[in-house]
Amino acid sequence: MAGEPQPDCLFCRIVTGEIPATVVRETETTVAFRDISPKAPTHVLVIPRVHYPDAASLAAGDPAAAADVLREAGEVAAQEKVDGSGYRVVFNTGPGAGQTVFHAHAHVLGGGDMPHMV
Ligand code: C5P
Repeated sequence: MAGEPQPDCLFCRIVTGEIPATVVRETETTVAFRDISPKAPTHVLVIPRVHYPDAASLAAGDPAAAADVLREAGEVAAQEKVDGSGYRVVFNTGPGAGQTVFHAHAHVLGGGDMPHMV
């Protein structure tokens, strides 16, 4: 069923604590942890506890959880003190855009040079 945990999903297993992660914030609906392969001085992933394969399906299936992920991205930026200098929130969606883990997640990137991408 949509939103249900998937036993073979890496991020569902981080949510349950089965796979370790460096968690920086948790709410009832989200978990935020440091990316294992950081692409910026601050690189944190914010994931919903519910399982949807990408941000678009999360927003369609559970809009409240999608809003929580976005709000938490801002909270992470403030906690990591990159909100003043500026930060980027990225949702890679689909393999062609570089998505490799098919559990919705926001990348929160900041703390270094932020070249203009779009
Ligand atoms: O957007 P994309 O699907 O490529 O992002 C997945 C991210 O999950 C990668 O940046 C990767 O480094 C990260 N990751 C992680 N911990 C894991 C496995 C992947 O932080 N155990």
